[in-house]
Amino acid sequence: MGAAESFRPLVAARAGGACEYCRLLEGASGVTFHIEHVRAKASGGKTVLTNLALSCPGCNLAKGNRSTAVDLSGTERQLFNPRDYEPASLGWHLHFVLDRQTGRIVARSPVGEATIAALKMNHPQRVYARKLQVDAGLIS
Ligand SMILES: [Zn+2]
Repeated sequence: MGAAESFRPLVAARAGGACEYCRLLEGASGVTFHIEHVRAKASGGKTVLTNLALSCPGCNLAKGNRSTAVDLSGTERQLFNPRDYEPASLGWHLHFVLDRQTGRIVARSPVGEATIAALKMNHPQRVYARKLQVDAGLIS
């Protein structure tokens, strides 16, 4: 068990059990979410609460060690960092909006555009799962 795992209860509770990027709920997804280093360990990120996030496997594996990606105009942007905001949900709503009709996440900023693309947040499988969770009343 890695050191980040010892933070799981706190990180998961802080996130309300949802992926801090794509909003999928761990408890309704059938898989264990990752305790992600927002700034990758390979880039000097520390295993501290201020550098950890709850991330679904899809977002975490797509992100890898990246901290930047290009927006729709091709400009390099920092990826969304939920730890830059207090509460974290404020930051999410600044950069993204959930289309409840389709289950897709829509960007509200260039950072949102870059993050949606890099983390494949609208991969069809995750859009489908998100729509089911919305329709079940699990995602508000
Ligand atoms: Zn996710």
